[in-house]
Amino acid sequence: MTDNRIKNIVIVGGGTAGWMAAAAFAKVFAGAYSIRLIESEEIGTVGVGEATVPHLKLYNQTLEIDETEFIKQTQGTFKLGIEFVDWARVGDRYIHGFGQIGHDHGLLPFHQYWLKAHKQGKASGLDDYSLNAAASLKGKFMASARDVKEHSPLANIAYAYHFDAGLYAKFLRNYAEARGVRRTEGKVTQVIQRPEDGYVDAVVMENGERIEGDLFIDCSGFRGLLIEQTLKAGYEDWLHWLPCDRAVAMPCENVGPPTPFVRCTAREAGWTWRIPLQHRTGNGYVYASQYIGDDEAAANLAKWIDGCALGSPRVLRFTPGQRKKCWDKNVVAIGLASGFLEPLESTSIFLIQSAVARIINLFPDQGFSDVIRDRYNAQAAFEIERIRDFIILHYYATERDDTPFWNYCRTMSVPKELTDNIRLFRDSGRFYRNAEEMFAQPSWVEVMVGQRILPERWHPMVDQMPQAELEDLVGGVKRVIANCVEVMPPHQAFIDRYCKAPRP
Ligand SMILES: Cc1cc2nc3c(=O)[nH]c(=O)nc-3n(C[C@H](O)[C@H](O)[C@H](O)COP(=O)(O)OP(=O)(O)OC[C@H]3O[C@@H](n4cnc5c(N)ncnc54)[C@H](O)[C@@H]3O)c2cc1C
Repeated sequence: MTDNRIKNIVIVGGGTAGWMAAAAFAKVFAGAYSIRLIESEEIGTVGVGEATVPHLKLYNQTLEIDETEFIKQTQGTFKLGIEFVDWARVGDRYIHGFGQIGHDHGLLPFHQYWLKAHKQGKASGLDDYSLNAAASLKGKFMASARDVKEHSPLANIAYAYHFDAGLYAKFLRNYAEARGVRRTEGKVTQVIQRPEDGYVDAVVMENGERIEGDLFIDCSGFRGLLIEQTLKAGYEDWLHWLPCDRAVAMPCENVGPPTPFVRCTAREAGWTWRIPLQHRTGNGYVYASQYIGDDEAAANLAKWIDGCALGSPRVLRFTPGQRKKCWDKNVVAIGLASGFLEPLESTSIFLIQSAVARIINLFPDQGFSDVIRDRYNAQAAFEIERIRDFIILHYYATERDDTPFWNYCRTMSVPKELTDNIRLFRDSGRFYRNAEEMFAQPSWVEVMVGQRILPERWHPMVDQMPQAELEDLVGGVKRVIANCVEVMPPHQAFIDRYCKAPRP
């Protein structure tokens, strides 16, 4: 029998995607394959991508990464959610917190009871019923506590991280190289395909070195060196739904303690992010080039940042969308090479993690079966499309009519699945998670309510509960959350105690 196994994996690109893939492969495959990563310092990386979602903890656990060490080495902080400012109306503010809203009661999610009580004037804003939202507003943070009752909200706190993207790639590089990944510095200048079927045979470096592989992972960023420039896999453009196509980034010095959340503020032609790290604050203005120029966007951002700017503004261009085939022939594109929605809700690093898990799960042999490849591509498309709809929701569900940008967003047509989700929620506060889609019910509920999609009714079963019991339930949850937040330490104090990074 011939040995049909993959032997050599070549990863082109050493940004977050390349090193996340390399580190995971090194750990999971444990020496079964030769893994080589090529990166070019001269080309560099995109250098942004500093906020994450809680799923990253699973990646770290799989790789047995020590959380304290990870935070220290990446100048990291903790993220309980995102604060949205001025999105549905100027003056509005809400938190999309990770984790639960209250606790489910009977067969119904808590928000169903909240809806009725709120309509009756017996409940305050939704933020008071989510531990993550309430703690964010007070600047508090702690990891899950072991010495509390099983049902305490403190027993299972959902959180993610903010970190320095450059330090993160370096951290993963050390990890991967220590486990046998070979790094090659330099530029790929040529891609050699097999004449008979177009599969990639080798890449050629600027110095003439030829690097052969069986499976190529394209992590070359927006340029998609293998997947697009070579294989022409095609790109689906979603600019009509996600009108922002540029960002200007400008980090600044810290002013005050770090918030345990990202702040996303809606602006005249897009939105700005503010990501607190231990050594600096990351800022950026994501905007639609149709409505504002680069210079004006940069000048506006400079006015809005808290502290002294560190370095000059850097403009990044992108086209929201996704590669029509993320896996084509023997090339799998991961990271920006596979597509990019936009930074709102910080899902891109999650999509890298998910793609890495998927390729491990569907790992091929040299036969490169179509069934495997098709399943991979279908899963990748499903995943990003559901996230896409969640992001579109933030733009579309607005009452703002103060600028041409917001007028466009408010009146644009959106994918049918999203319209259906909005209609269902507006009717009676219901949401159904579609199979393995990433964002769960609490996320959709918080964002829909925050964007002023307020249901007219609630689930009929809520009316079965006597009024006094309803008020007890809703009031009790609010009290428990407030008590929990009270005992949580300030975010800065938690960092100082457990994972303070050295001054750079
Ligand atoms: C404005 C903005 C904000 C973002 N914010 C977030 C966020 O908050 N959270 C989040 O999850 N994601 C965010 N992202 C996405 C995130 O930055 C990326 O998903 C992540 O950095 C992965 O990038 P990458 O590794 O695919 O590409 P890159 O960082 O561009 O890396 C590409 C690599 O390929 C190499 N390369 C390219 N061509 C060649 C060649 N010819 N030869 C050799 N090497 C080559 C480069 O040297 C580099 O090492 C953001 C993106 C943008 C644009």
